[in-house]
Order: sequence, then structure tokens, then C-alpha cells
Amino acid sequence: MPVSSSKCTLTPDIPSREYFERNTIMTSPTPSPKGTALVTGASAGIGAVYADRLARRGYDLILVARNAGRLQALAARLSAETGRSVQTIAADLNDKAGLSKIEAVLRKDPSITMLVNNAGVGSVASVLNADIDEMEAMIFLNITALTRLTYAVAPVFASKASGTIINISSAVGIAVELLNGVYSASKSYVLSFGHTLQRDLADKGVRIQTVLPAATATDFWDVAGYPKQKESASTMTAGDLVDAALAGLDQGELVTIPTLHDGESWTRWETDRRALAPQFANAKPAPRYALPAGKA
Ligand code: NAP
Repeated sequence: MPVSSSKCTLTPDIPSREYFERNTIMTSPTPSPKGTALVTGASAGIGAVYADRLARRGYDLILVARNAGRLQALAARLSAETGRSVQTIAADLNDKAGLSKIEAVLRKDPSITMLVNNAGVGSVASVLNADIDEMEAMIFLNITALTRLTYAVAPVFASKASGTIINISSAVGIAVELLNGVYSASKSYVLSFGHTLQRDLADKGVRIQTVLPAATATDFWDVAGYPKQKESASTMTAGDLVDAALAGLDQGELVTIPTLHDGESWTRWETDRRALAPQFANAKPAPRYALPAGKA
């Protein structure tokens, strides 16, 4: 069972419309024609910038994270500045009950048109000094929660033949040797999962975008154990990261890597990866394994 450090503050049952209204900050009188974007990890960093940019693009919002005070302060500001309806749900996605409540919201709220799976934590510790319980909690948040939320909303979006899922991976999902191995592998999962979501959902009218930020100046680095990274000359601001990621979404990208200037290098790498697939279909081992005569 994953470690849970804070209690989910949702009501015990599937949230009703009334529940949302009680927790909505400054509801706009008219629902947005763009619908509602549910953003996880919206209390800080990249998620808070997504909330800001999506409200300015005309989305109503449901903001999810553990810190209720920070969520409500952001909701009040965004609602005042944009006139959009902003709901907040304080929930710990490392807690199975808290996660189930957000899954229920995604299944039941017909206004939701976008899910931004952004909540995540990282680490710079090696296998020899990382805490295994923290690693398990990281796997639960970065992989299990993202997967369950995607599975909750995908059938809804498919039934309406519309909807967008944005999954936040990381450049270390490819450059796996740079940080903690469990973190990198969790982000490789998000990238792989995104490829198969595109295979399963593209012809159902559902858009999937996988975003691979490289180092971005957020509190992520304090939690990960290397705060100095925030001051590095090669670290991007969260504002630039999200603006570029949304530009990539507008351009129809399936995978967006804001810091990668040579976009063709991704295209080549991805083309080569896909070209490997048919080569795996062989009943016999490759000659380089030189099996004894009669076996190969
Ligand atoms: P951040 O500033 O630390 O924000 C993380 C967000 O996730 C916060 O809103 C936090 O809010 C929320 N969160 C953490 N644990 C949670 C839990 N158990 N349940 C619900 N919400 C939780 O980090 P960030 O840089 O914005 O990270 C956002 C995403 O970008 C992550 O998936 C991260 O892996 C990815 N990313 C970041 C970088 C980078 O350099 N910053 C690079 C590549 C990828 P509460 O504390 O209020 O719950």
C-alpha cells in the first residue's frame, strides 16, 4: 500500500453537482464552451502555470493537489482575472481513497474535456541511498495514479469522440541515466503509455499529448534533493515550458519536448524505434548467438 502523508478532504461519496458548487470559487454564470480542464498537481510549479494558461484560453478548471490553501488562493486569483469557474479538490493521489474520488469526478462530470496528468515527484538518489518506501510512493503517484485517472476518463472521451489528455513525462524518460532510476523509469512509462494511448484512442477522436520537460525551475528540485538545479543557466522557467507545450498541442504534436531545438533528431529517433518493431518477429535466434548445430 502506498505511503500517504495527508488526508483526502473529499466527501465520502461520489461528489455530486451540489458538492462541486459548494467548493467552486467564484463560479462563472455561463459554463465555458471549451469545457472544463482537470489539472492534477495544480497547487504549484508546472501545474499551476497550466491552470493559469488554460483559464486564459477559456477553460473552466478543476484543480487537484494536497495543499487546499494554495489551491484556493490560485482559484480565487484565476477566477478574478479570467472570469472562469474554478473548482478545487484537495486530495492526496498517493492515497487510494483520494485517487478514487478523482476517478469518480472524471467519470461523472460531463463538462470535463481535458485532463492534465501533471502531479509527480522525483529524486536524485541512487539505488544505494534511496528509501524504498519513497520509491514505492513515487511509482504510485507517477505511474499508478496517472494510469487510473487516464483509464477513468478515456472511455468518457471516446464515447463523446472528443477530449484531450496531456501526460507530463520528462526528458529523463529518455536520458534515463541523469537522475534517480525509479523516477526516470516512471517517466519512460509515461512516454510508452502515451504511444499506446495514441494507438488506442486517436481514431476515437481523443487527443493524447505527452510532454517531456527537461530541468524546469520549480519546487520539484527541493523535493528531489537538488535545489541548486533551479538556478542553473540551462533550467527553463515553468512559464516558458507550459507556453511551448501548449504551442506543441496547437501544432498537433503527439510528443512535445520544449527544450529540444533540433526537432528532427526526435523524428529520426522515433522513426528508427518504430522500424525495429517488425524485426522482432523471428522464431529463430539471431545468428550472432551461434546456437549449436541443429538447434538454430
Ligand atoms: P512541483 O512544483 O513540486 O509541483 C508538484 C505538484 O504535484 C504540486 O502541485 C504538488 O502539490 C502536487 N503533488 C505532489 N504530490 C502529490 C500527491 N501525492 N497528490 C496530489 N498532488 C501531489 O513540481 P513540478 O516541476 O511542477 O512537477 C510537475 C510535473 O512535471 C511532475 O510530474 C514532474 O515529474 C514533471 N517534471 C518536472 C521537471 C522539473 O524540472 N521541474 C522536469 C521534468 C518533468 P501538493 O504538494 O499541494 O500536493
